[in-house]
Amino acid sequence: MSKLIMVSNRLPFHIERDGSTHRTTGGLASALEGAALENEQIWVGWPGGVEEDFEDLEQVRAGMLTSGMAPVFLTKQDLDGFYEGYANSTLWPLLHYMVERTKFSNDWWESYRRVNQKFAEVIMEVADEGDQVWIHDYHLFLVPSMLRGLDQGLRVGFFLHTPFCSSEIFRVLPDRAKILEGVLGADVIGFHAYSYLRHFRSSLLRVLGRETEMEGLWHDGREVRMGVYPIGHNHAGFDQAMKSPDFLEILESHRKDLAGKRMILNVERLDYTKGLPEKLAAMRRFLEQNPDKRDDVLFVLIAVPSRQGVQEYDTLTEEVQREVGAINGEFGKVGHTPVQFFHRGFPIANLAAFYATAEVCLVTPLRDGMNLVAKEFLDCQRPEFSTRPGVLILSEFAGAANELPQAIQVNPHDVDEVATALNRALEMPDDERHKRIEAMQSRLRLQDSGAWARRFLKDLDNVSQREDRIVVMKMKPLAAEVAGHVRAGRKLGLFLDYDGTLRDFVEVPDLAVPDPELPGLLRELAEHPKISVALVSGRAPEFMERYLSGLGVTLVAEHGYRWMDRGQGEWELFNPHVNTEWKAAIREHLEQASLLTPGTHVEEKQSALVWHYRKADPEFGLWRARGLLEELTSMAANLPVTVHHGQKIVEISSLQVSKGEAVDHLMRLWGTEVALVAGDDQTDETMITLSPEGVKFFSVKVGKGPTRAAYRTDITGMRVFLDELRANLRNSPAVQ
Ligand code: UDP
Repeated sequence: MSKLIMVSNRLPFHIERDGSTHRTTGGLASALEGAALENEQIWVGWPGGVEEDFEDLEQVRAGMLTSGMAPVFLTKQDLDGFYEGYANSTLWPLLHYMVERTKFSNDWWESYRRVNQKFAEVIMEVADEGDQVWIHDYHLFLVPSMLRGLDQGLRVGFFLHTPFCSSEIFRVLPDRAKILEGVLGADVIGFHAYSYLRHFRSSLLRVLGRETEMEGLWHDGREVRMGVYPIGHNHAGFDQAMKSPDFLEILESHRKDLAGKRMILNVERLDYTKGLPEKLAAMRRFLEQNPDKRDDVLFVLIAVPSRQGVQEYDTLTEEVQREVGAINGEFGKVGHTPVQFFHRGFPIANLAAFYATAEVCLVTPLRDGMNLVAKEFLDCQRPEFSTRPGVLILSEFAGAANELPQAIQVNPHDVDEVATALNRALEMPDDERHKRIEAMQSRLRLQDSGAWARRFLKDLDNVSQREDRIVVMKMKPLAAEVAGHVRAGRKLGLFLDYDGTLRDFVEVPDLAVPDPELPGLLRELAEHPKISVALVSGRAPEFMERYLSGLGVTLVAEHGYRWMDRGQGEWELFNPHVNTEWKAAIREHLEQASLLTPGTHVEEKQSALVWHYRKADPEFGLWRARGLLEELTSMAANLPVTVHHGQKIVEISSLQVSKGEAVDHLMRLWGTEVALVAGDDQTDETMITLSPEGVKFFSVKVGKGPTRAAYRTDITGMRVFLDELRANLRNSPAVQ
């Protein structure tokens, strides 16, 4: 059975006095526990500490491996450049929309790359073919593609626990393209919220020029899937904690200490993304505006220390402490301190007791990937422990906001709104509180952290089993089968589209010249006595003649309007009676569209007109193309033309011309017995849907999109097919 390799920056473990190590139940570890998986698990991550301080690395490694953990040791330099630097001073603020806090350094980037490589290498040391590798978070964006470079047989998932910022923010990052390419090495990419997926997709479009579907894209011969998997809290852990005697004891003491006062609870890491200064401003505003409630409420502020020693965090801590002191100085009185500040973490039973006793939980991050505190509070609000049902005030910028519409949602930057929400929460009648909390609780308990892990891993499993994934490998057996027919003496016709099938698209179509190997490959196939090859393209004759003639390959240009037999001699027309009188009227429309859309132009062919928008802004170009299509389709109703929306083009061509017609003609001419057609867009479907009588027919779709082809691959897979076909036939001459 395959293993699951969990990969996170930090390992979830602690060392006992005797030096033995044990897994702890951090967020991810408890999610895995809750998922109750059957397969073996190994955890890859940083064990803490500095590599230089370990006396015997091998011994530590061996010890940890016995507890299912593979350590990635980091040097002091790694920690400075990778962890403090690139991960936490570049990516963390940027992904949370805090451009002004984002710092850039080339050395940090180099360190980030080097450490990601270290992770990839440790993963490869423990991985076997077919294992699932689940990589977590922004520290490790490059690991998925680094694994691809090392091995093909792994199933790789990547999960981002932070937000993914708008592409307009992401574009600021100097290494933006490399980061995106790094993640695309994964088979499944998961986010907590739909908006993060949306921003990721627009970054792929804006930065890499990659168009994607909602559910994924094709990349390097694989299908990369993307999905939204909101993480849940550790329901089982809190359930268990609330059954412990500790919990009841703490609960009782809270009640006594509160003496009837109403607790407004805040729990967070002390991080600038959590919006503590803004929250304190709202508390102050609330106390100013509601003198009657001042002695009645108690703000409990639990701020878990985070990244101590880093200047920015130390300054924030001081700022918070100063403001807490100022509020207490201003609004406190003998026997009552309005804000109680705890700058420390609490064990789960204590936290559960806080959650259960609080009447309001104030969760107001400026940005937060998910926010588990909100979910934990709701879960711990139980009639048997809570005097009144509690109210959740939640920032609309927390990932959890999508799942918790019954919370009072606020803009954390709007101090007045938060202050008003506090008052509203305290005044809310019990039956309304009850209805709201119940609606959220039932969902949260089902969608806990274990359910989250199961859902993601199931998708990772499914993708890997999909036949499409191994599409490139499937082209080898197809080549062997086709070669078998040739060896048996049958006449093979290969009908291949060019752009998008043998060659990738580029911004300037004239630069999409054949790569150096392609002409030799086509020539060798065409020289085989039993094989005829035709390149069936939408291109104008000039381009084809310039780059693809003289190979013994028949050229078909302009979607089947003209052809040049075996790539030499004169261009001929398949049908000399094609009507092109319609062009004048259509040309005017296309030229108008070009004028209004920067980066677009009109190409004139003998039997067609093409409006190209590859160099336009992708979204603007597509929007204009759709309008144009609508307009042209109604105009074309009375004209002998077809309108076609291809790869960044809108093409209007004569109805009497098609690639299918041309291929049909050639098959008859050559007496083809076995045919293979391959193409990537809708014009190629006219070849793909042929069903010539008495011909063994193979059809291949290259890339995404609807098709009736029997096989699907990508450009690399197509090349694999042709290379394999040649290799299969090289040493075995045809039966004459
Ligand atoms: N937490 C804790 N002890 C504390 C305070 C908080 O263990 O004293 C936990 C809390 O239960 C929650 C996590 O810290 O699971 C905070 O997660 P969240 O998603 O809210 O924010 P993050 O810190 O991941 O940004």
